[in-house]
Amino acid sequence: MKVPFLDLSLQHKALREPALAALTSTYDGTRFCLGKDVEDFEKNFASALGYPRALAMNSGTAPLHVACMIAGFGPGDEVIAPPFTFISTVWGVSYVGATPRFVDVEEGTFNLDPAKIEAAITPRTKGIIVVHLFGQPARMDEIIAIARKHGLYVIEDCAQAVGARYKGKPVGLFGDVGTFSFYPTKNLGGCGEGGAFVAKDEPVHIKARHIRVHGSDRRYYHDIVGGNFRMDGFQGALLNVKLPHLSAWTARRQAVAARYRAEIKLADVRLPDQPTYGQSVFHQFTIRHPRRDALREHFAKREVGTDLIYPVPLHQQKCYASLGQVLGSLPVAEKAAATCVSLPIFPELTDAQVDHVIAVINSF
Ligand SMILES: *Cc1c(COP(=O)(O)O)cnc(C)c1O
Repeated sequence: MKVPFLDLSLQHKALREPALAALTSTYDGTRFCLGKDVEDFEKNFASALGYPRALAMNSGTAPLHVACMIAGFGPGDEVIAPPFTFISTVWGVSYVGATPRFVDVEEGTFNLDPAKIEAAITPRTKGIIVVHLFGQPARMDEIIAIARKHGLYVIEDCAQAVGARYKGKPVGLFGDVGTFSFYPTKNLGGCGEGGAFVAKDEPVHIKARHIRVHGSDRRYYHDIVGGNFRMDGFQGALLNVKLPHLSAWTARRQAVAARYRAEIKLADVRLPDQPTYGQSVFHQFTIRHPRRDALREHFAKREVGTDLIYPVPLHQQKCYASLGQVLGSLPVAEKAAATCVSLPIFPELTDAQVDHVIAVINSF
């Protein structure tokens, strides 16, 4: 039996008719940049996920960039972030001329370790970017307490955590602002690029809305420096079709994760922790094993797709070599990168495919 790591064609085949009808309507109405479909999506997204308001943008990197502009980070400032994440988490920090300062993650969840944050704070530290990696909420109470004590701006990168809850509340607004991605492989994926920005305070929302359209509220009048961070009408239209399915898709991911957790019996395997404070949406189910490469080979020979997310922590990327965070300085992230492997966990997986993944891993 073949089990792909991810197959986006199944979801798009199932939604083909309503999706093409929505896209056709946008086409016929020439609502190409922002417009009614995007406005509707912003309202639908905010109310479905539990945010006071939301802004749709043209990638998941865009709201992180906008958040760094709004936070006022700049040259000489340091922003704390985890090293075990997608690089886009910290691009915005670099775009505004500030410097990422990587702090190690927890062994059990791959998320920022609150116990290690304070040692990294200097007079230059201005903010923290928290990532809810693989859909698992980070320890927000501890992180927010540290941020308040030191006056730090908090951005939550929820690109992998749409719908995830921390102590019953949706991730994204425990700090100042939250960001999302609708890249096709994400839990809520567009037919192209997309993202969203949520703010706790309305003035921040309004400022981000102006930044999104060239720092402008009135056409050709630019009160602040902005950019082009607009979502396409087509993405808004498509995401409106998909959004009502998100909670069922999430429930299926959680059910698959529960089976992996209960039925994977391989010795020396480390399953991700499932702490009671957080409800993961399982963007990934990432395990660790000391013989990871041999295990991946074992899967590949039996037609089970796996992925290596992430092979190189951010402090070891060439683009950040000048930061001087040397090999050995963030051992938990480095060990995670060396031993992790992600298993198939998309909503359309069949029970028989899940059986097969479990049987294959247990036979290693
Ligand atoms: C996907 C992702 C982003 C944003 O990516 P885009 O490709 O720009 O949509 C940011 N952070 C994390 C952790 C991600 O997984």
